Amino acid sequence: LRKNIELKLNEEQNMLVLSQSIANLGNWSTVASTGVISWSAQMYVIYGINKADFGHNLSALVALTHPEDRHILTDWIEQLTQPSPAFSLLVRIVRPDGQLRFIKTYATIEYTADQQVLRRVGCTQDVTESILLEQQDHLHLDQLAHVTRLGLMGEMATGIAHEITQPLTVAVNYANALKVIANTEKPDLEKITKIAGLVALNGLKAGKIIHRMKSFCQSQEIMRLSLDINSLITDSVLLCNSDLKKHNIKLHLELAEALPMLFVDSIKIEQVLINLIRNGSEALAAIDNSQPKTITVNSLRLDKHKLQIQVRDNGPGIELEVQKKLFTPFFTTKTEGMGMGLSICRSLIVAHQGELSFDSQPGLGTCFYITLPIQEQ
Ligand code: ADP
Repeated sequence: LRKNIELKLNEEQNMLVLSQSIANLGNWSTVASTGVISWSAQMYVIYGINKADFGHNLSALVALTHPEDRHILTDWIEQLTQPSPAFSLLVRIVRPDGQLRFIKTYATIEYTADQQVLRRVGCTQDVTESILLEQQDHLHLDQLAHVTRLGLMGEMATGIAHEITQPLTVAVNYANALKVIANTEKPDLEKITKIAGLVALNGLKAGKIIHRMKSFCQSQEIMRLSLDINSLITDSVLLCNSDLKKHNIKLHLELAEALPMLFVDSIKIEQVLINLIRNGSEALAAIDNSQPKTITVNSLRLDKHKLQIQVRDNGPGIELEVQKKLFTPFFTTKTEGMGMGLSICRSLIVAHQGELSFDSQPGLGTCFYITLPIQEQ
């Protein structure tokens, strides 16, 4: 019987070693009273060191951690004294051969009967490959978002050119009027100053649209800045105006006041807003002109931690069958559509730890909801 138990234990031990090796996952424990750390065999593989080269204490562990992540590790260990069932930690380690690896650690605490910390136990997994994949996904998403942004701009360019020409023409007319007034016998200086102001104002108006176009088209990594959500909405609308006019759509802005600043990448959020407004105006373009067509953009504070932007249209709405596939890449009901707009929008919002959702009633219209967390910088 004893032999049998030994065999069984051996087999289980072998299975454990094998599964730890397959998952590249090790387990460890630390005795609270002595601070001595014990590692399973796979821990040495993860850290790329031999058993004899590890000091089995906290300072040895800290020394193996990437210098920039050491404080994260020590803060985490400090928090580990608080009673909570599980904690997880992601840090970079540097192997003796210089290789950088990402490791994820889960831990729990065992207490004595009188609630003293007895041991800290946990497991650590090398998650480098999945982190690298995730980073690549982000890069792809970024490239794709850039390409669709360029496409969007290309389609809107004619309308936007018109938007720019208009204030420039006004400025030229005012400048001509200035010439006439300046050539009179007693030029009215007050009038000249006023008209010169109007020239400047219209020039700036055209400049602002060009500036928005330029920054919108540039590819960039996620670059978060603290900004006011309402100006972001008015800036996005600037690029949509020609589209809305073309389809005879009235735009209403209902923006809440005194909203907290958001820490977001303005170009990415603008891309989402412009996509949603464009989708709304394309939906409205498809219905007849007998009813007034409107798109309403709201900004509001949802609760203590979240802001919301709503983009609502009174278009044809979305059939239930179509609703199910709305965020599927390449799903489109338009002959010229690419079907990537909404799935990219959702990924961009998710990359900001937010949510993109919608509700739609066939025949009554559609509303998209962008929910973003209010984050400290
Ligand atoms: P695309 O615009 O290229 O078709 P999207 O991913 O932006 O790609 O949209 C997918 C589909 O969702 C559209 O083809 C359309 O059928 C539907 N849709 C999106 N927004 C609206 C809306 N506001 N009203 C009605 N249908 C919409």
